[in-house]
Amino acid sequence: MSSKTCPKRLELQSLNSFAVLQENISKKEKRNMKKPKNDGPKKTFKIRLYPNVAQIVLLYKTFGCCRKLYNTFLSLKQQKQPVPTESVFKSEFPYMKEVDSIALQQSRLRLQTAYDNFFKSLKGQRKGSKIGPPKFKSKRNEFQSYKSINVNENIQINFESRQIKLPKIGWVKFRDNRIFSARINSVTVSRDPAHRFHASILIDKSVPQNKACPEKVLGFDMSLQHLIVDSSGNKTDYPRYFRKNEDKLAWEQRKLSRKQKASHRYQSQKIKVARVHARIADSRRDFLQKLSTQITNEYNAVCVESLNMKAMAGSLTLGKSVNDCGWGEFSRMLEYKALWKGKHFIKIDKWFPSSKLCSVCGFKNVALTLADRVWTCPGCGTVQDRDCNAAVNVRDEGIRILNHNLNSSTVGTAGIHAQGDCVRPVHLQNSASGAMLCTGNGR
Ligand SMILES: [Zn+2]
Repeated sequence: MSSKTCPKRLELQSLNSFAVLQENISKKEKRNMKKPKNDGPKKTFKIRLYPNVAQIVLLYKTFGCCRKLYNTFLSLKQQKQPVPTESVFKSEFPYMKEVDSIALQQSRLRLQTAYDNFFKSLKGQRKGSKIGPPKFKSKRNEFQSYKSINVNENIQINFESRQIKLPKIGWVKFRDNRIFSARINSVTVSRDPAHRFHASILIDKSVPQNKACPEKVLGFDMSLQHLIVDSSGNKTDYPRYFRKNEDKLAWEQRKLSRKQKASHRYQSQKIKVARVHARIADSRRDFLQKLSTQITNEYNAVCVESLNMKAMAGSLTLGKSVNDCGWGEFSRMLEYKALWKGKHFIKIDKWFPSSKLCSVCGFKNVALTLADRVWTCPGCGTVQDRDCNAAVNVRDEGIRILNHNLNSSTVGTAGIHAQGDCVRPVHLQNSASGAMLCTGNGR
């Protein structure tokens, strides 16, 4: 304990003995949180909220209180002091009673999750790149959010009047046409840089247990020009949303650069810039959602190449164009939609030479460069369109993996990866042994 501790910290220290008791409860609480009863896949509906002025004030208060609690607890953790529960905290700061108490509780659990992820990352038990320890949340961050859990049906939704009931906030208007019947698990309310409010509603989703027979298989090759080229030879007519709005964005950004920083005009101009960005992102997402829904409705199995988007955007001097496509997002959409609809999703290894192989005779054209859009196969003489050929190769490789997995009865989950031995438990292997693959029809 340092001698420079501020008075507020000292007051909290005096509550330590009580806090230790409380921490035990919170650990038990957390254990329950970690093991939800229904462990199946979840589905989220993100809806745009239209709160009134009083509700906006209360939403900002909730963001603020959650942030304060998070930052104070993080500071205590950094000083290796026990973390009290929010009830202790509330008695010290009575204004916290104004906001949703479950949101405060979730704020503490979010900090715990951040630490868990950090330690897992240190030990190498976490996928992806290494992450650092939790940081302090800033009031000036453009993204603000809080999470609330549905307890005793305190979160309700009325699809007729298009209103959602949030704890302490009351009935808030929203705009969306989708309807669901499952119970609401939790809601995350957020504000984005364009100062729009959204609610992400989490519900349990039942998934078909038996996978569809993969008779209609589609392979993709990612193309800069068309977004995707599929194995049937179709090229998507992709509107380049960023390129379309680039001038408008530059115009607004130039206006922003002329404003005095931290002035009122600067702040309002900043929102205008954020609105252009939001419009681009929304249009792109809408396009990708419609396309992925159409594909997963039509086909039983979808094969894509797993590409390293970050490296491509950085190394090929095509950054803006690569990021404008949203391939990563598209592939993610295909994956979860295939899971929901009981269809197959196969990721092909990124080292698979899809462009260089001839799809007719299997000749490997090592001399092929990025500039060659059309080439003639030295083996069989076929004139190959680079993208279509790659898409056919991806589909054939996907069918090979599907065949292998179904025959060796290792299929079970959506993302079947390219190579590797079976590591699934024996009882799961047996349950899928009856499945057979129908080949040839979709080719
Ligand atoms: Zn050939």
